[in-house]
Amino acid sequence: MRYVSTRGRVPAVSAAEAIRQGIASDGGLYTPEQIPRLTETELSAMVDLSYQELAARILGLYLTDYPADDLKRMIGAAYAFPEKFGSPEVTPVTAIGDGQYVLELYHGPTCAFKDVALQLLPHLLTKASELTGDAREIVILVATSGDTGKAALEGFKDVPGTRIIVFFPEEGVSQVQRLQMVTQEGQNTEVIAVQGNFDDAQNAVKQIFTDREILDKMARHGLTFSSANSINWGRLVPQIVYYFYGYMALCREKCLRMGDILNVVVPTGNFGNILAAYFAKQMGLPLGKLICASNSNNVLTDFIKTGHYNRNRDFHLTISPSMDILISSNLERLLFYLTGQNADQVCDWMSQLKSSGEYRIGDDYLAKLHADFYGGFATEAETMDTIGDVYQSASKVIDTHTAVGQSVYKQYLQETGDRTPMLLASTASPFKFNASVVQAIAGEEAVAGKDEFELLHELQRISGEAIPQALEGLNRKVIRHQRVCKPERLGELVQQLLKIDK
Ligand SMILES: *Cc1c(COP(=O)(O)O)cnc(C)c1O
Repeated sequence: MRYVSTRGRVPAVSAAEAIRQGIASDGGLYTPEQIPRLTETELSAMVDLSYQELAARILGLYLTDYPADDLKRMIGAAYAFPEKFGSPEVTPVTAIGDGQYVLELYHGPTCAFKDVALQLLPHLLTKASELTGDAREIVILVATSGDTGKAALEGFKDVPGTRIIVFFPEEGVSQVQRLQMVTQEGQNTEVIAVQGNFDDAQNAVKQIFTDREILDKMARHGLTFSSANSINWGRLVPQIVYYFYGYMALCREKCLRMGDILNVVVPTGNFGNILAAYFAKQMGLPLGKLICASNSNNVLTDFIKTGHYNRNRDFHLTISPSMDILISSNLERLLFYLTGQNADQVCDWMSQLKSSGEYRIGDDYLAKLHADFYGGFATEAETMDTIGDVYQSASKVIDTHTAVGQSVYKQYLQETGDRTPMLLASTASPFKFNASVVQAIAGEEAVAGKDEFELLHELQRISGEAIPQALEGLNRKVIRHQRVCKPERLGELVQQLLKIDK
């Protein structure tokens, strides 16, 4: 399997090379030249596979230059129960009635779906170095608005041949998210609070990635940068697996028969998670509509409805902060396939996006988009109401991001009357965003004057579920990272930390 850049200005590479580079040097994203297709017989043979077996099967189709035994070993380590994931199924499915099912993606070490990819990525990356004969030590730089940073830290901690430095906005993360990061263990981890917002941190990191002087010093010291966000193919490919797993689990439970259509609802930010569902569908998994759910940062809703992408709009801080994003990087991969791999067309749209913040795809492409996708968004009030509704009707507690998905699904039902069974991607544990969740279920009085750690216990009482181990006792853990830095000094600080400033 070869990987091509969505902008078509560099030669095709192997999977290991694509993962090692993270982003193509023409600014595009590496993506498979051909999406592998499975027959119904092959699909039927997957019904009884364990998560790990299924992962080995799917990843084997994409990462053809990785030896099968190595893949198997890496998958075993990444998804070990109970060491890494709190469920032996890794991503279990629960029913909430009316042919609606929740795919629980949050049983990993940091309680959000990013663990599924970030537990495996370090293995894929270090193996990629070996396969490509690159002996340099990898330095991962991450700017995070909360969930990615912690998931990347847990994934890369003490992984030989790697170091990881995470930057988070000093005032921009929740109490739980901050403590998750500043208490991080591991010999190769650094966490830095940036005196600014997420964009400041993100811009500073992007500058470091392209700073010639820093790159030269890195090279002289045998170091190289890489990225752990979803532009890296190694972060996307593990996510395809759980859509297969969800479908097969519903077949085992006799909720579906092989071949039945299943709609999928995905709360979306960077478009990575829903793109993984698109890959699963292209591979032959019988998925119907891919329902793309946004919060009030609804740039994708407008795009899917009208074909006009326009990021020139106000940015909103919401109760589903991991979806507060106006540039959805992975949409570029979808555009590439939508245009029949027309890299020139993709380049054109991306340069319009860069210069004017907008582009239009035209009616023919829009019609193709509508064959697979539906887009909608939920307001803050709708999100809160949905948490309450699902608790009332199904005794199931869902987090704010998942609630955005369910709220958009209700709109979809009303608009289309399409009663096809539905799988809702549940992207975070409700315990992680407990203040909003408790308020939605028990009212404002229940949260008044309580911090997020007292509320963990309140939510345990309400949900009847145990507090995830990773969050329990977090406020008693030793603070290991206290560095604070102005955005304009980050380059200097990184050089000091890497000891390349001399
Ligand atoms: C990252 C994240 C999302 C958005 O996922 P994308 O792949 O960026 O679309 C949704 N929910 C949670 C909890 C997240 O952490």
